[in-house]
Formats: sequence, C-alpha cells, structure tokens
Amino acid sequence: MKIIVCVKQVPATNEVRMDPVTNTIIREGVESIINPFDTYALEEAIRLQERFGAEIATISMGIPSVSAVLRETVALGSSQACLLSDRAFAGADTLATAYALAKGIDKIGAFDLIICGKMATDGDTAQVGPMLAEELDIPHLTDISAIEECADGFLICRKQTDDGYARVKVALPALITVTKEINVPRLPSISGLLRGNDSEIPVYSVADVNADTSQTGLSGSPTQVVKTFVPTSTVSGEMLQGSNSEKAAALLQRLAAEKIVSE
Ligand SMILES: Cc1cc2nc3c(=O)[nH]c(=O)nc-3n(C[C@H](O)[C@H](O)[C@H](O)COP(=O)(O)OP(=O)(O)OC[C@H]3O[C@@H](n4cnc5c(N)ncnc54)[C@H](O)[C@@H]3O)c2cc1C
Repeated sequence: MKIIVCVKQVPATNEVRMDPVTNTIIREGVESIINPFDTYALEEAIRLQERFGAEIATISMGIPSVSAVLRETVALGSSQACLLSDRAFAGADTLATAYALAKGIDKIGAFDLIICGKMATDGDTAQVGPMLAEELDIPHLTDISAIEECADGFLICRKQTDDGYARVKVALPALITVTKEINVPRLPSISGLLRGNDSEIPVYSVADVNADTSQTGLSGSPTQVVKTFVPTSTVSGEMLQGSNSEKAAALLQRLAAEKIVSE
C-alpha cells in the first residue's frame, strides 16, 4: 500500500498578517510549523504503515525553507519526501495549489491513498483536499475521524457530519481529509530525527513536474484577493449582575425587549 500525505507549512500563530498591497500572507519573520491538521494525517499514515506495511511519501508546495517541514516528516516515518518550489508556483489560490500538488503526485507515481489535513490553519479554506481529488479523478471523503477498516481495495471510515457521524465506504485509490479526533500524533524518535536531518529533499520546479504554467501560481489562479481586513466588532457584551435568579430574570427581560421571547 502506498500512502501520500500532503503537508503544508503554516505560521506558528493564528494572527496571520496580510500584505496590504499584494493581499498575500506575510511569511517573513514569522516562525513556521507543520500545519497542525497535517500531523494527524501523517500519524494516520504511520499507523496504517504499522498495520499493513505501507510505504509513505510526503509532498508540499511552498518556499525552499519548507524542506525543514519535510525533514520532520522523514523523521516520523516518510520514506520519500519532495517539495514543489518555483517562482511559477507562487501566489497560488486553492485551485492552482491543488493542480500543482496533482502534478507532483503524478511524478511520485502510483498510490492507494492520499491523506490531507481537514484544513490549513492559515488559509483555512479546506478546499485543497477535495480539489486535489478532482484533479486526480479519484473519490474523496472529508472530515474523517476514524479509519475503521482497510481491506481489499477499500476503506470504511467514520465521517464527522453536522449532526453526528456517518460510516462511509470508499474504493481505493482515494483521498481523505482528517480531523484532530482521528489519533494522537507521536513525537519523532532520536534515530528518526537523525534520519530526517540527514535526508536530502528533492525540489521540483514547474518543468520537473510537467506543469502548465497557465494553471500555476498567481497568474494561473482564477480567484484573486481584492481586499483583506480584520473585521471590527460593533457589538459589546454586558455582564448581568446579581444572583442566578436575578440574572435569569434580567436576561428574560432583555430577550423580551428584543422580541426574541414573549413576556
Ligand atoms: C481566493 C484566494 C486567493 C489566494 N491568493 C493567494 C496568493 O495570492 N498568495 C498566497 O500566498 N496565497 C494565496 N491564497 C492562499 C492559498 O491559496 C492557500 O494557502 C493554499 O491554496 C492552501 O489553501 P488553504 O491554506 O486554505 O488550505 P486548505 O484547503 O485549508 O488545506 C487542506 C489541506 O490541503 C493540504 N495542503 C494545502 N496547501 C498545501 C500545500 N501548499 N502543500 C501541501 N499540502 C497542502 C494540507 O494537507 C492541508 O491540511 C489564496 C487563497 C484564496 C482562497
């Protein structure tokens, strides 16, 4: 079984700053980490590797320093890690990101399963996984909180839904995106860290993966960020005073005044 895990490098903070001129994320001077959701994706791949002897490859698209994140994945158990990095990939929206990853995965070769995080903590769209599956013309399942069965060309997964869970069967090859409920990611061993530090991460350009530059980067992105801003809050909270019954009565009064409940 061959599993490919997509990992993204993200800023180690929730307070992402945007360049007001280019409307892109300011990555300079910000500590970077592996996208937290992707650590769960990698851990699930490692667990499948332990159960079924799977081979794991990791892939990322980003700036050259993303190699450090890929070395971490080697430290944990990936045997093949590669980085897509080229000026022609820069400024990609989610569709152009998915296209680039699909071209990189074509280069890696045949696979049974692709695992992505549920979303990236900076872009937050949760679009890349499903778009990547469409690019590769394979089925996908999102928000997976458990792989219950893996046998004979299919997976049975527990999928989180708006009102509970669903058990879903999907034929392989397929792509899944995983939630934090799926496992508890492990830390690398000392020997793993040494292996990761010593690993050479191949860097692929647009030409290396035969990508069509009309579909990569900023110029290949059908969506453009027109404006970014931090929303200002126009409502303020009010702490009700008194005993619990006084607070409940005051709350009822407010709700009745707003005609949310009748008196
Ligand atoms: C309209 C729009 C315009 C944008 N324009 C720009 C821009 O001009 N410049 C710019 O820098 N960014 C831009 N972005 C952000 C950029 O598109 C995203 O950073 C990128 O496409 C990933 O999307 P996401 O962060 O929402 O990931 P999600 O879809 O939330 O990520 C889900 C999963 O997909 C995988 N994944 C996502 N990205 C990668 C990656 N790079 N490598 C490997 N795996 C990955 C991971 O497994 C991740 O957990 C734009 C985004 C939008 C929505």
